[in-house]
Amino acid sequence: MIDVDALTVRFRTKSGPFDAVRGASFQVRPGEAFGLVGESGSGKSTVLRALTGLVPIAGGRVAIGGRLVGAQAQRGAHGRALQREVQMVFQDPYGSLHPRFTVDQTLREPLAINGLDREDERIAAALREVGLGPAYRFRYPHQLSGGQRQRVAIARALLVEPRVLLLDEPTSALDVSVQAEILNLLRRLARERNLTIVLVSHNLAVIGFLCSRVAVMRNGEIVEEPGIEAVREQRVQHEYTRSLLLATAGYRRNAADAIGVDAAM
Ligand code: ADP
Ligand code: MG
Repeated sequence: MIDVDALTVRFRTKSGPFDAVRGASFQVRPGEAFGLVGESGSGKSTVLRALTGLVPIAGGRVAIGGRLVGAQAQRGAHGRALQREVQMVFQDPYGSLHPRFTVDQTLREPLAINGLDREDERIAAALREVGLGPAYRFRYPHQLSGGQRQRVAIARALLVEPRVLLLDEPTSALDVSVQAEILNLLRRLARERNLTIVLVSHNLAVIGFLCSRVAVMRNGEIVEEPGIEAVREQRVQHEYTRSLLLATAGYRRNAADAIGVDAAM
């Protein structure tokens, strides 16, 4: 479903060109959840933005569902199909929701852009799917909790029926108990809709909960692809990955305990 081959992303900066991602390669099969972990600034968000065609690809190639991603490739009908197929949810649900739009307006927008009909029906169903009742439909973001805002952001992403969901630290801004609710919601939705997911997190417990594979990034490069079982059981080889494991609060005990989720679910 996702094929990233020797991807290099280069930004122009005041001090010259800077490669935020260098020669990164990975593949994600349909319906699979792939994790990207690494310290802050290692290039995780840049990889996600490359998957949506939002950053300049200086080398290598990115394809989604067999379609090439990139400035040229994203013109016309081909590009619109691709944009609809790949949706993103960000860390800060407050920043990503328009403060003066009601939930209804926020959810109506992508439907209009993509020319989807039966708006009222779709919006009501989307709210139900993320566990928000009809009462939330005409609220503004400031009238919602952080977890509720993130549910709205997830509903917005799913409304256009994407095949790929990109999650950039989707629970990092939330309280631990709310994190677990949102992770459980994401896991249920991913299974029900057979979504292909790339999840970025600095938290290996979060990755271990949602993903079946993980790659470790450092300084723009993928440095290790430890097995997910090894991550869950803390048997990683690479010193850097070990330090990420230890940096994950409470990880020493148990990945699921650390984020307050039921590992058997
Ligand atoms: P992460 O998500 O792992 O924290 P990012 O992908 O956001 O890391 O950033 C990787 C590196 O690229 C950082 O050094 C960041 O400062 C740099 N970077 C990101 N976006 C830009 C940009 N638009 N222009 C210049 N540098 C950028
Ligand atoms: Mg980031």
